[in-house]
Amino acid sequence: MSSKPHKTPQAPSTSNFIRQIVEADLAAKKHASVRTRFPPEPNGYLHFGHAKSICLNFGLAQQYGGVCHLRFDDTNPTKEEQEYVDSIKEMVKWLGFDWGRHEYYASDYFEKLYSFAEALAERGHAYVDSLSADDIREFRGTLTEHGRESPYRNRPAAESLRLLREMREGKHADGTHVLRAKIDMRSPNINLRDPVMYRIRHAEHHRTGSKWCIYPTYDWAHGLSDAIEGITHSICTLEFEDHRPLYDWFNERVAEAGLIERPLPRQIEFARLNLTYVLLSKRKLIQLVEEKHVDGWDDPRMPTLAGARRRGYTPEGFRLFAERIGVAKADSWIPFEELESCMREHLNEVAPRRMAVLDPVKLAIENYPEGKEELCDVPNHPQKPDWGRRQVPFSRELWIEKEDFEEVPPKGYFRLFPGNEVRLRYGYVVKCIGMENGVVRCTYRPDSKSGTPGADKYKVKGNIHWVSATHAHAAEVRLYDRLFKTEHPEGTADLNPGSMKVIRAQLEPSLRDAGSGERFQFERHGYFVRDAAHGAFNRTVTLRESWGK
Ligand code: ATP
Ligand code: MG
Repeated sequence: MSSKPHKTPQAPSTSNFIRQIVEADLAAKKHASVRTRFPPEPNGYLHFGHAKSICLNFGLAQQYGGVCHLRFDDTNPTKEEQEYVDSIKEMVKWLGFDWGRHEYYASDYFEKLYSFAEALAERGHAYVDSLSADDIREFRGTLTEHGRESPYRNRPAAESLRLLREMREGKHADGTHVLRAKIDMRSPNINLRDPVMYRIRHAEHHRTGSKWCIYPTYDWAHGLSDAIEGITHSICTLEFEDHRPLYDWFNERVAEAGLIERPLPRQIEFARLNLTYVLLSKRKLIQLVEEKHVDGWDDPRMPTLAGARRRGYTPEGFRLFAERIGVAKADSWIPFEELESCMREHLNEVAPRRMAVLDPVKLAIENYPEGKEELCDVPNHPQKPDWGRRQVPFSRELWIEKEDFEEVPPKGYFRLFPGNEVRLRYGYVVKCIGMENGVVRCTYRPDSKSGTPGADKYKVKGNIHWVSATHAHAAEVRLYDRLFKTEHPEGTADLNPGSMKVIRAQLEPSLRDAGSGERFQFERHGYFVRDAAHGAFNRTVTLRESWGK
């Protein structure tokens, strides 16, 4: 990465409905300070949608001088793995956030959650149900039909308590009993129809091993984990809006029993990120990897943060994007171009310029002495003189882009065609003779070298980049494009067959020593990064929006 100092774009901090809630709560002295959390389930890699949530939660903590917890919601024993935990931590750090000592695991609360459950059973707020899973589903009713009470609903509290203890001790087989909250089977909100709190699962957990054979459900564990940690604002996506009454019910019952402290956390829902041309669902992303449509989780075309890093996207670009799109209460689609434009904006600030010929054809200068070499003085960033200049070798044979020569120029074409003059950027003015044996032939004006006195007396309209053929670094470049060709992709049928093109390019010799992860602007082409895995250069994003043109 460039070690030069750079400026990070800072979007103005505008308000949004969540900031307003937080400010009002602080003003009313409801909380001494803000405590948020980012609660990933460690069952996959983080994607662009998670980046929105991370920027929001950690951003609020930063903005209001609070803290944000990183909590792994690891209540599901079978699907979770350490590999995901490690990768999630790495990517949150990469995005530029620090949870300090606040790293937590819902599984660390299993003992506490269990004792809360006993308290609820004792107080008649929970009961052990011995219906089968199918019957429980059947009894739950539908959106138009209320549910029916289980025949076990009114079993004595002492009996529920005894069964719950036996469940914990492993005396019962999977699926024979569950612990349910006793709320209301007639509620129009299905979430309140005696939701399950514990199920029996004789399964190993990646952190607790075989200590437990009953596991809490998401709804039971999530809100209580928030309360245990003293979270003030529990921010989640809209699909949990209907769960909020349950979230509050569980916390209220446990607080009444004196087992957690008030004020209780407040759940706030916001619209999840939907990006055009992108799929943001762990389940569907897993399919792309498993069916090998992409080269792993961190394939630069994947909308994962691991993929984004290899693609050359920057943390600053993501933070800018999160700030720009803001948060809303209604679902919408954000055009993918907005993310790309945030990346361009930041890369323009931090990426040094280099010359690279992606579709090479040779150019020979007939009146340039055979065997002669000289250096051209080239700025590293045209708007940043303090980034200095570099010396790029020039010689008789150069690589230029095929599209910079036309035998018969279309109207308005200012580049090379027989009889026309152009400037070789930072070098000489050359006049085109024509093409012979696949080589573009030219003559040059020895007194036209850029930066020498009088060089600008030649007025030419075309200005093309080049690389000296004898010095060029031939390298693989991967031109990445959108992974999906449709605006609202559903699955593999929508994949863009042209999402990756591998080419052999001719690069300015200094790029031979580019470090992995180092980013550049290839003049006239776009932003590129040296890939840590295969050493090729990946195209991050073109210089301008070009999709569909
Ligand atoms: P997916 O829908 O891809 O399976 P998830 O919601 O199951 O994701 P979690 O690990 O449970 O993934 O999510 C962690 C946090 O990230 C949650 O608070 C969730 O609300 C948030 N999140 C997930 N997807 C998005 C998204 N598209 N936009 C904003 N936040 C998201
Ligand atoms: Mg989830």
